[in-house]
Amino acid sequence: SKPLVAVVGRPNVGKSTFFNRVVGRRVSIVEDTPGVTRDRIYAEAEWCGTHFALIDTGGIEPNTSDVILSQMREQAEIAMETSDIILFMVDGKDGLTHADAEVAGMLRRTGKPVLVVANKIDNPKNLPDHFYDFYELGLGEVIPISSANMLGLGDALDRIVESF
Ligand code: GDP
Ligand code: MG
Repeated sequence: SKPLVAVVGRPNVGKSTFFNRVVGRRVSIVEDTPGVTRDRIYAEAEWCGTHFALIDTGGIEPNTSDVILSQMREQAEIAMETSDIILFMVDGKDGLTHADAEVAGMLRRTGKPVLVVANKIDNPKNLPDHFYDFYELGLGEVIPISSANMLGLGDALDRIVESF
């Protein structure tokens, strides 16, 4: 079966945007219930002839901050159990947060490869000073991307398919 890539990260870092860009079409589903947006959480994708499956573990995200950390732990557990590589997405605009550091600790303890991508780096020629803080996560190289502007996605996908 195809290698599985799990996308993990805080709400609003851009996981669904990345997912939609890589899958190549808009796949988000808006439920009838007011205030509930349900993203499609599984899709098949291909990069340079390599086929893989992508899961957005944050498919259902209430907007209350008190559940963010527990939800990220849950996401990370699903990802660690099921995927071949974990794509850990952080917000390159916001910088490093406590929740990011907490989840990185869990991910470091898994034997799975983890790729850190810093999204919302819309101008990669001018990295924000706080970009280098992401190296404190201890998960190796941090790839700057802009899902919205389709920048750096090829670099991230190269790393992903190299890991299979
Ligand atoms: P998710 O909650 O992690 O799935 O995040 P979403 O994909 O729903 O994106 C959250 C917000 O960030 C939306 O308003 C997106 O338009 C915005 N966003 C996503 N990617 C980028 C990016 O590369 N640059 C900027 N500036 N905004 C982005
Ligand atoms: Mg989402």
